[in-house]
Amino acid sequence: MSTYTPQQIAQLLQRREFYQTYPWKQQSKKCRINWKRANKPCGLCGKPIDWQARPICDHIVPAKEAPHLALEYSNLQMVCHGCNTRKALAKEVETPTGLDGFPAGWGTPE
Ligand SMILES: [Zn+2]
Repeated sequence: MSTYTPQQIAQLLQRREFYQTYPWKQQSKKCRINWKRANKPCGLCGKPIDWQARPICDHIVPAKEAPHLALEYSNLQMVCHGCNTRKALAKEVETPTGLDGFPAGWGTPE
């Protein structure tokens, strides 16, 4: 039920306005309600979600990498507030890659 084109979503994300849009609020609310009703655990750590601790509706495939999936319900999951923060921080640290394109240390004997 996307009312935006992927290009528009990418622009909204860049201007940090995406999370204020009506379609996003609808989708994240739906995710929250269904997740809570089904009593599903955090999509990242697998622990029960503490609904008092401001859990976050998270994109499984990051919206910046896949704007066309930003409003796709199947790409949403509820995660702990802390897990979301950790994921956001981890994203900023790129995995160093060797010349062959594999992560550094790939196949290195223990
Ligand atoms: Zn978690």
